[in-house]
Amino acid sequence: MTQHRIPLAGVIGNPIAHSRSPRLHKHWLKTYGILGDYVPLHVTDEDLPQVIATLPKMGFVGVNVTIPHKVAVLQYADQISDRATLIGAANTLIFRADGKVHADNTDGYGFLANLRQGAPDWDPSAGPAAVLGAGGAARAIIAALIEAGTKEILLSNRTRPKAETLKADFGSRVTVVDWVQAGNMIEASATVVNTTSLGMVGAAEFRVPLDGLRRGMVVTDLVYTPLRTRLLQAAEEAGCTTVDGLGMLLHQGVPGFERWFGQRPEVDEATRAAVLG
Ligand code: NAP
Repeated sequence: MTQHRIPLAGVIGNPIAHSRSPRLHKHWLKTYGILGDYVPLHVTDEDLPQVIATLPKMGFVGVNVTIPHKVAVLQYADQISDRATLIGAANTLIFRADGKVHADNTDGYGFLANLRQGAPDWDPSAGPAAVLGAGGAARAIIAALIEAGTKEILLSNRTRPKAETLKADFGSRVTVVDWVQAGNMIEASATVVNTTSLGMVGAAEFRVPLDGLRRGMVVTDLVYTPLRTRLLQAAEEAGCTTVDGLGMLLHQGVPGFERWFGQRPEVDEATRAAVLG
């Protein structure tokens, strides 16, 4: 990139107006006094290949990728990181100076960094981790838990075959549990992660039995609207350590920002406040 260009980044998705990523990255650009910008870009499936080919020519140094393009973008990348390959999806593209498109997935990184910041005493090997849900986000969470050293992952999903597919991909550390047994699965765990959309504003209520929650457990929810979900509320009342899902969104943005703008940003209270508006 020449010095005459202002580095641009953005987030591509459809719909995109709801994305909080512009607030996050604009906050960091301002905090570090970087001349650059970050914009939401509404991109249809049909336009995706052309958009990826064109953005670098317009001064874009990279983009975040959200629903529905996280899987499709892989076919337009020249290089795919190991973790994006393992997860089968990318949330970050880097448009390199040599013209190559590099695809990465930072969701698992964001999940672990958030957990370590919010629950510094969290021990991934303290006991089984209960993972609720087997959608796109669950893949990144399972990969991250295995990487962190969790020996046993108990996985439950309303649609059981999707959990079985994840087990086939991740192997013997994953045990599939029937959705009707999800409450018992929580009781048997040291770490509990909700990766379903249950409890999110506009989605169905989270109704899994929670009487198995106990002091000493670490409980986190990927849902961050509302910030304090029913799961986190019940966990707090039971004396568990709780970590909300907003921090994952903030931390997953760190590697992309660093690669695009050359500055590793901090995730702190000011970052949270900026994104919450
Ligand atoms: P997804 O691929 O659509 O998966 C949705 C999951 O929720 C599936 O496991 C699905 O089960 C389950 N589910 C939906 N409705 C249900 C119901 N009524 N009863 C039981 N299970 C139900 O979505 P995703 O991309 O994995 O995202 C999941 C959630 O994580 C979303 O709320 C998303 O906003 C959040 N998220 C947060 C972050 C963050 O940075 N904090 C990052 C990524 C995702 P079935 O398979 O049975 O349909």
